Amino acid sequence: MANHKMSPESLMMSYGYKPELSEGAIKPPVFQTSTFVFKTAEEGKAFFELAYGLREKDQDEELGLIYSRINNPNLQILEERLCLWDEADGCAMFESGMSAISTVLLEFLKPGDLLLFSSPTYGGTDHFIHHFLPKIGVHAIGFTADNTEEEIEEIIRGTGKADRLSMVYIETPANPTNTVVDIEMCARLGKKFSTPETKVNLAVDNTYMGPLWCHPLKHGADLVIYSATKYIGGHSDVIAGAVLGNAEVMQRVKVLRTFLGNMASPNTCWLLLRSLETLKVRMEAQASNAQTVADVLSKHELVNGVKYLGLLNPNSPDYEVYKKQYSSPGAMISVYIKGGEKESFCFLNNLKLFKLAVSLGGTESLAQHPCSMTHAGVSPEDKAKLEITDQLVRLSIGVENEADLIWDVNQALDAVRNMNG
Ligand SMILES: *Cc1c(COP(=O)(O)O)cnc(C)c1O
Repeated sequence: MANHKMSPESLMMSYGYKPELSEGAIKPPVFQTSTFVFKTAEEGKAFFELAYGLREKDQDEELGLIYSRINNPNLQILEERLCLWDEADGCAMFESGMSAISTVLLEFLKPGDLLLFSSPTYGGTDHFIHHFLPKIGVHAIGFTADNTEEEIEEIIRGTGKADRLSMVYIETPANPTNTVVDIEMCARLGKKFSTPETKVNLAVDNTYMGPLWCHPLKHGADLVIYSATKYIGGHSDVIAGAVLGNAEVMQRVKVLRTFLGNMASPNTCWLLLRSLETLKVRMEAQASNAQTVADVLSKHELVNGVKYLGLLNPNSPDYEVYKKQYSSPGAMISVYIKGGEKESFCFLNNLKLFKLAVSLGGTESLAQHPCSMTHAGVSPEDKAKLEITDQLVRLSIGVENEADLIWDVNQALDAVRNMNG
């Protein structure tokens, strides 16, 4: 027993929580408190020395509880549990995925710096990069999943600011088309452009595949980011975010979080602790359903193509990256319905079990039309380049009965057929 290493799913119910500190309650209560009482003034002083980085931690010393913007039991237990999946040194929880992303970009970029990012990215991230970062003098340049390593190097040098590259930010598989970006290749690029003074950090938005099926830190990433609103929360009832990484980068992220004050609340953390207990069973059921639904769609006469990692051709370049990086094809499907907006909308309007909503990763299946919804702001040229067409419908597959999901997509496609006579 002593040297048996438990899997993360076995530890999600108990890790990091001591019932004896909470009247023996088997589950952590919601620590709905703003501040914590110090036993002595000396103790308060010692806690602040650590919190503000005024001295190094002693061997077994832990940061004591001070104030809920800095730490809180629900926040800390959640962060410790989330670390287990990615085997990260540290984790910082945020009140949204966007606050996790914007805090990372603000901490690791300064005026004059260059950010390299993969395109497409989540709409909110794209907006922050294009509309906020220029205001603080940060330059950003994008690349797409089909660019080779050499081409990306040329893109970086072409800016004339290669010596100011300070972060590579990627999202893979890309939303909404499921194209994959090679994390190891991006880590190599980061190393190549690092200097003795500045390390080029690689941040990966792992919302689509983590924390179960992809562990970017093992492929050379420095920071992993999640919208915990998606699979981690998993019930479409909470907005939250997370950042994970080694001790050094996490110290920086947590200090900025303390001063931006965008940490997750005790109640949000409590909900996520509950969600983590079923994370693995949920995600596995979702992926299994997704493979079946993708298979059915790919054979349907009214479907023009399905982008799903479980349907990749073993001879395609994406397949190699997929096999190296992911342990499952995931539960997100992009399907092209023959016709145009009219046919796609007819399909969406006729779904009965799938709900017509944006977001993803929850227990219920969702469907949306990226071209007119999540990606409405993308320019027509980029839409064409990224294959975000009127035909595209994005499906997030839930934990429902698979026969019911198949029935639903088939009857909605029947409605499309009938509409066209
Ligand atoms: C939803 C999402 C985000 C933003 O997260 P919020 O929790 O909505 O702030 C970021 N990245 C990806 C890939 C997402 O799907």
